[in-house]
Amino acid sequence: MQVVDALNLRGEVDSYERQEAIWLLAHLLEIDGLSLKLRLSQPLTDEQRTAYLDGLARLEKNEPLAYILGSQPFWTLDLKVTPDTLVPRPDTEVLVEQVLALDLPRQASVLDLGTGTGAIALALASEKPNWAVWATDIYAPTLEVARDNAQKHHLPQVQFFKSHWYDNLPQSHFDLIVSNPPYIAPNDLHLEDLQSEPLRALASADNGLADIVEIIQGATERLKAQGWLAIEHGFDQKQAVQALFNEAKFSQIQTIKDYSGNDRVTFAQYKVGVNI
Ligand code: GLN
Repeated sequence: MQVVDALNLRGEVDSYERQEAIWLLAHLLEIDGLSLKLRLSQPLTDEQRTAYLDGLARLEKNEPLAYILGSQPFWTLDLKVTPDTLVPRPDTEVLVEQVLALDLPRQASVLDLGTGTGAIALALASEKPNWAVWATDIYAPTLEVARDNAQKHHLPQVQFFKSHWYDNLPQSHFDLIVSNPPYIAPNDLHLEDLQSEPLRALASADNGLADIVEIIQGATERLKAQGWLAIEHGFDQKQAVQALFNEAKFSQIQTIKDYSGNDRVTFAQYKVGVNI
């Protein structure tokens, strides 16, 4: 089997499916996608062919390519991902971009709740070496992946804690709290397409809002005065999330859209947080 035959096994030319085949095969041949296209007549070894066909079968079962490759680009980082972690989405970069534009102290203390691969925490730490970044996850094997990613990208200033939201954190207050929590309603049909990813990172009770409620309410005891909270949420949750921020006495409540034009991140300031 030559490279060209292998690629023809998946999708039409120029389709996303074909692009995934190119990424998969390029990964197995340890070259980039462009070089692969210049080697269309190269024969695959038996080992490459078996690994490629195995990868295609996993894609057909709706497994994310990132789990097959073992990594996913996010921001400027190439992050290790495993089935214990959600695959970082480009839309979450909107949150990163937004909080980097806030007016925060030079040595801000920052908390990322439910860090998964470490995506948000590590992206922020990579841009702001003076920030003290804390990151939590409820599941120890997930935290191991996040720690590997911190090591891989030489970001030792990120500290990791196993914690359910704020439950297990050492007493501390933050200038910024960020989170991409689970926010899909448990009965949302969209979950069927996401079956390879951990449900605990995707679905939340009360129409997808239960964890967001905990995070917003808990933030009032964990933010410094003038501190900010930024949360990713579902495309149809803007009003509910803004109302929760309002009830918790946040000000400057704003929602921004993701790259597809959906409401995706709401952030706000807590003027009356702890003065320290
Ligand atoms: N945005 C993701 C999706 O809908 C879900 C991420 C999350 O629940 N935090 O595919």
